[in-house]
Amino acid sequence: MTELVYEVKNLTKVFEAGFFRTSKIVALNDVTFNVDKGDVLSIVGESGSGKSTLAKILLKLEKPTSGKIFYKGVDLNEVDNKRYWREVQAVFQDPYASFNPVHRIDRTLKAPLKNYFNHLSERDIYSRIKEVLEFVGLKPEETLGKYPHQFSGGQLQRIMIARALLVDPEVLIADEPVSMIDASLRIEILNLLHDINVKRGITILFITHDLSLASYISNKILVLYRGEIMEFGDSEEVVENPLHPYTQLLMSSIPQVDRRFDRKLEIELEKIEEVNLVGCVFQPRCPYARSICINTKPGLINIKPNHLVRCHLYGESQG
Ligand code: ADP
Ligand code: MG
Repeated sequence: MTELVYEVKNLTKVFEAGFFRTSKIVALNDVTFNVDKGDVLSIVGESGSGKSTLAKILLKLEKPTSGKIFYKGVDLNEVDNKRYWREVQAVFQDPYASFNPVHRIDRTLKAPLKNYFNHLSERDIYSRIKEVLEFVGLKPEETLGKYPHQFSGGQLQRIMIARALLVDPEVLIADEPVSMIDASLRIEILNLLHDINVKRGITILFITHDLSLASYISNKILVLYRGEIMEFGDSEEVVENPLHPYTQLLMSSIPQVDRRFDRKLEIELEKIEEVNLVGCVFQPRCPYARSICINTKPGLINIKPNHLVRCHLYGESQG
């Protein structure tokens, strides 16, 4: 039996922007998916697709406009914040912004332990910190006592991951954790996240704009476009048999895969301002768009038990 960590149901987030709050930005629209315990779920999409908004709502840092989230079967609104913010840890994109530049690393690492495990002695705190630093691939004697500016971005991201692990989390939400890190170091951090999942049993939500990173690390992939789920399924399915034209476009922009997709799909990854609220959100960019795509929003269709797509190319949707 798989245990559910999250059930996200019809999640919608509308931001009101502009001087008189007259313009509405639909950051998430009717997003529904589950996360099982032990999953590494990648949430993939270009900038502006709603990934960070989804992360913030899951982290209880932002409130949804409508929809429901259940965490281990309990409505997220009913879950105690202190407990939740220990069990669900976050790693963000900019490792430099995550640290106070005037505090030594020790202070940053001790803070969560003092907050959640205040019975621990100073000695126990240090032995726990050392154990976790080693786990993330850092030498405690070369890390403790130093200031953030003495580390590279990759090292700081490892320290952030160590900080997250210190309090024994069950879930790690990593929002573009490697996008500001030197490309040569990215795979090492991904391997570390993989170890965290396998050795510590931690469920991971990995947010990225890069489908190749998603396919490297995750067992499930959710493709977002303009706040809507375009495709969701087992990673192998999504990568080897991408159904949505948008997923195919993302695949074709990965250099190492063979270009078996239609050349027509290699349209530029440029921002399209036109938003189609009645029909398919991807329709303005889609080479296969027909009149139904302009007039009717496609629903998510189950192609296989673990593979869903939102596209009129695949027949009747359930709405
Ligand atoms: P991503 O992380 O995929 O780049 P975001 O979730 O940051 O996307 O943003 C999704 C959309 O919501 C964008 O159009 C963005 O401009 C808008 N948005 C995000 N946060 C806010 C906010 N606080 N106020 C108004 N609009 C926002
Ligand atoms: Mg983002």
